[in-house]
Amino acid sequence: MAHDEIYTENLSIDQLREKYQAERQKRLRSDGVAQYKELVGDYEEFDRDPYVEPGFTRDAVIEEVDVVIVGGGFGGMIAAANLTKAGITNFRIVEKGGDFGGTWYWNRYPNAACDVESYVYLPLLEETGYMPTEKYAKAPEIFAYCQLLGRTFDLYRAALFQTEIADMRWDENLKRWQVATSRADDISAKFIVIAGGVLHKAKLPGIPGIETFAGRAFHTSRWDYSYTGGSSQGLMDKLADKRVGIIGTGATAVQVVPKLAESAKELFVFQRTPAAVGIRGNKPTDPQWFGSLKPGWQAERITNFTQAVTGAQPEIDLIQDEWTRMMRVDTRKLPENEEEAQELERIDFENMQGIRQRIAQIIEDPKTAELMMPWYGQGCKRPCFHDEYLPAFNRPNVHLVDTDGKGVDQVTPTGLVVNGVEYPVDLLIFASGFEVTTDYTHRLGFDPVGRDGISLSQGWSEGPATLHGVLSRGFPNMFMISTVQGAQATNFVHSISEVAKHVVFLLTHCVTQNIAVIEPSADAQEEWFQTLFAQLWGVARYNATCTPGYLNSEGGGDMRSARAIAWMTSVLGFADYVETWRAQGDFVGFDFTPAS
Ligand code: NDP
Repeated sequence: MAHDEIYTENLSIDQLREKYQAERQKRLRSDGVAQYKELVGDYEEFDRDPYVEPGFTRDAVIEEVDVVIVGGGFGGMIAAANLTKAGITNFRIVEKGGDFGGTWYWNRYPNAACDVESYVYLPLLEETGYMPTEKYAKAPEIFAYCQLLGRTFDLYRAALFQTEIADMRWDENLKRWQVATSRADDISAKFIVIAGGVLHKAKLPGIPGIETFAGRAFHTSRWDYSYTGGSSQGLMDKLADKRVGIIGTGATAVQVVPKLAESAKELFVFQRTPAAVGIRGNKPTDPQWFGSLKPGWQAERITNFTQAVTGAQPEIDLIQDEWTRMMRVDTRKLPENEEEAQELERIDFENMQGIRQRIAQIIEDPKTAELMMPWYGQGCKRPCFHDEYLPAFNRPNVHLVDTDGKGVDQVTPTGLVVNGVEYPVDLLIFASGFEVTTDYTHRLGFDPVGRDGISLSQGWSEGPATLHGVLSRGFPNMFMISTVQGAQATNFVHSISEVAKHVVFLLTHCVTQNIAVIEPSADAQEEWFQTLFAQLWGVARYNATCTPGYLNSEGGGDMRSARAIAWMTSVLGFADYVETWRAQGDFVGFDFTPAS
């Protein structure tokens, strides 16, 4: 039998189900999310910003403003742009990086690109008049677009870059927040908008000995071009005589591996769970088509994409890519009966069989092909789409080191050990991802102190409590744009935009109505959680079949972490819900204190 036929044979659904469970069981670990290492202490150097000149100083800012926005990524920028449009311009933006961009400021690794279509991903395209150059724009273009947003909405005047929140506390007498920063700023604000990012806190794998490695090592979100040479698109010339090891085969590694393969003398890809990689089919934007789009096109297209990937099956698929083909049916939804359950399972299995067939067809070495087969459902990990990742493994200088689901055993001063074999490397790259399901304050890197001196981590010791994911009782006027009890979506920017819209609506209401304090009632918070919780079952049922990863809390999770769930079904459902709530105009669930 030819090796490309091995995985195309008709495995029965029972056999596939068993195979998926066996792969899951092999990977479950008792330490779950705790296996990862934070970039502190011995690993602090991994967090250093390589994109700014060292030694930056500035005078401390001491002022009173209406709003402090934490974060200059898409969340913070969209909030700031919407506030500006609403006539609220007296705000500050505090940002850790040296510029706007968030994800796109940090992720400059070679070949980084938007993994959903740029026409639906890049926000406010109709307002900036910008035409993305490609269907899936590359990172430098997206970063430049963030800068364009900054200029278009006059946000640079408000930005404090290379600055982190040191302390944030509510003053009950003044009814204001007092914000201290790492640069000794002292800012008093009526309102806070925390847009701290979804995937921004890089993590290292839990492998013993990382700190002993004597070569160069960095995380993909802190790429060191001074070591690799080249640029995000070009050949990395300084790697021509280097042995490079990369740990991880997630969405980031899938983008970066082809460029490393072209540049390095030898590339070792250390794999714990194989990626599912479908067809990409990137292409330049047709200016005529783009110019023909009618006003309102972007909102329509964003909605169309989200409908198409959440099983709503719009009449016309405007996007027509592998996302919208594969996700046409939401295989993670809670089936209504056994018949539907079997149908969903069949569709999911067939989609993944297609992915496995593609691997068998492209990878020339049958053993490598077998090791790269993903044995899990399409919703278990973020699906990847790439046309150069799989062919890279046909190059003689690229070596797959599969760890049979166990991960790398050890890092030594000179290399990595798997199954008793040491693989010496000069450069070690961690494509090990970001914290997603750890505590919110842990990911933020600060712990706001609300009424009665109670910090957010104390207030949420039993799990988060919010109304609409945007405000929490005991933390007046502190708005959040996050996935914690908020919205989530395949197109992250869509969910961020919907939450930001709601935040700005509430904040604007407070400013125009001269309201000093807004916060939710405890009952409304519990009711909101029950609304979210009711949507959990489909995904929870599906996740129990999955190999571990950040989407299922590494196969673990408890009631406390379950309280951090987002609106699971579709961001369009979230948007409808809060839209209807806003239209009612009675602000039910929130308590207001008028300014005296
Ligand atoms: P992920 O968390 O998806 O991947 C981390 C990788 O590291 C996994 O392959 C994981 O294996 C592996 N790993 C962890 N520990 C070990 C270990 N001890 N030994 C060996 N391997 C290990 O991170 P990414 O940065 O790839 O992606 C994160 C998310 O960022 C994506 O899911 C996507 O949402 C987003 N992203 C978006 C892009 C875009 O274009 N918009 C591009 C890139 C990323 P295992 O699977 O077994 O845990």
